[in-house]
Amino acid sequence: MPEPTRERLEADVLIVGAGPAGLSCALRLTQLIREYQHGAGLEPAPLSPESIYVIEKGSEIGAHSLSGAVLDPKALRKLVPDYETCKPPLGTPVADEAVYFLTEGGRWKLPVTPPFLRNHGNLVVSLNQLVKWMGRLAEDAGANLFPGIAGAELLYEGERVVGVRTDDKGLDRNGHPKPNFQPGYDIHAQVTVLAEGPRGSLSKQAIQRLHLDRGSSPQNYSIGVKELWEVPPGRLKPGTVIHTAGWPLEARQFGGGFLYALTETRLAVGLVVGLDERDPRFDAHNAFQRYKTHPWLREQLHGGQMVRYGAKTIPEGGYFAIPRTVADGLILIGDAAGFLNSQRLKGIHLAMKTGMLAAETIFDALLRRDSSAEALRQFERRWQTSWVKEELWRARNYRQSFGRGLWSATFHVGLQLATCGRGLRSRYRSRPDYESMQRLEDCQASPPPKTKPDGKLTFDKLSDVYHSGTRHEENQPSHLHIADFNICNGRCIVEYGNPCQYFCPAAVYEMETDSGGQGKHLRVNSSNCVHCKTCDIADPYQIITWVPPEGGGGPHYDGM
Ligand code: SF4
Repeated sequence: MPEPTRERLEADVLIVGAGPAGLSCALRLTQLIREYQHGAGLEPAPLSPESIYVIEKGSEIGAHSLSGAVLDPKALRKLVPDYETCKPPLGTPVADEAVYFLTEGGRWKLPVTPPFLRNHGNLVVSLNQLVKWMGRLAEDAGANLFPGIAGAELLYEGERVVGVRTDDKGLDRNGHPKPNFQPGYDIHAQVTVLAEGPRGSLSKQAIQRLHLDRGSSPQNYSIGVKELWEVPPGRLKPGTVIHTAGWPLEARQFGGGFLYALTETRLAVGLVVGLDERDPRFDAHNAFQRYKTHPWLREQLHGGQMVRYGAKTIPEGGYFAIPRTVADGLILIGDAAGFLNSQRLKGIHLAMKTGMLAAETIFDALLRRDSSAEALRQFERRWQTSWVKEELWRARNYRQSFGRGLWSATFHVGLQLATCGRGLRSRYRSRPDYESMQRLEDCQASPPPKTKPDGKLTFDKLSDVYHSGTRHEENQPSHLHIADFNICNGRCIVEYGNPCQYFCPAAVYEMETDSGGQGKHLRVNSSNCVHCKTCDIADPYQIITWVPPEGGGGPHYDGM
């Protein structure tokens, strides 16, 4: 297709991703503009709220926002001091908490909740609702929000980022224009802020091209799989937060489960598992279904109904895995840069705080008409001298200490708690998750046990995908770029048994028998994708690249 003529739009600040990080950045910028304008005898503000653009690939603000979630409100309290008077309330204060160790049929309550898992003063929230509310605040303050628009590629002048090209709309599956074809825009901005969430596609491009991860540890991820349930009243007190370790995961695996009571009748239940999984046949979705068959969880969910499903990856590498977060014209914030405390199982407050600090940096930079890397480096100084660094530093070696399983990690984490996060070494090593996957011939254990879905308590992937509200335009180019199908249909069958069919929580990858019945080939059901990015991270050959589909496609995480 010849290159179409693209409209050029000019913004002062372009934020990619309307999650907690991106919206905190937009909202804080509008506050700084207002404060500046109220200052007596000053020059006009260096930007206006209307010149702040936020693009979001979800069909509406919050549609792709998914988390557990228990929110530490310390950043929100600064950003919106009167959030507690919000109607309806944003979340339920934590009223009760416990940590259990599960065996197949039993559970033991830890006599003392570890300090990092204490949630007194925090809120059980729906991230989807929180983000929707923040979106309304940012819009009311004058920022321009564009849902349904995905960032397709970064625009550069030399090595300086000057904006983003948005997605073309109306291409057919072969990449040819349909009658409704609309080329994407070129949005130019003085500063582009990447707030795409974990493993953002533009963030990945920028990190690779600008070598932002030179000197940092590899990022490590988990996958979180979650369902929302409506249950009869009288099960758990609203605001109950329960975390579990142990069954159905093995001691060698990183992860655990959670059960949160948002209201008396609405429960969030989920399982988180490290993507440094050894066994290529391990299926996190199936392990989650198994988790719900534990007698204690079965009792909590009995007579209830699953109403929503979702999955996403979680960047857990911590302090040493954060890349350089600025370049000329560019800032990375929130999960896109890895600002998450895996020890506390929390990232929303860090996403908000880094969004706010980015806004303060950008405002100062634009006042001086200088958005070079040197000017934006103030963002790194700001987060390094704030509670963001303090919190991440205390957990700097946490995730990496699980490399040898739960029992060894218990020793290391105990030592880290006693040494302010240091442990035995100043910096624990790690490797990219996909390097942990073993070939089939090296897997000594029998395949992980499977749970047969009953359609009441346990579900197959397609039923769950239906409950994620996922929709994509069918006739569009696949957004899952497989560099070499010959590897999938040949080497991978023998070496790894096509792990994509297991690690994808949405049944996107399927091995189909060839028409001659002789061999198998990979079928990619792209329209099931819930945008979790697991395949981009966990594929052992690193030949899968996730790019955004046509904006507006994907899950609809209402209430999640
Ligand atoms: Fe997640 Fe990839 Fe499956 Fe989409 S295709 S749901 S990004 S693993």
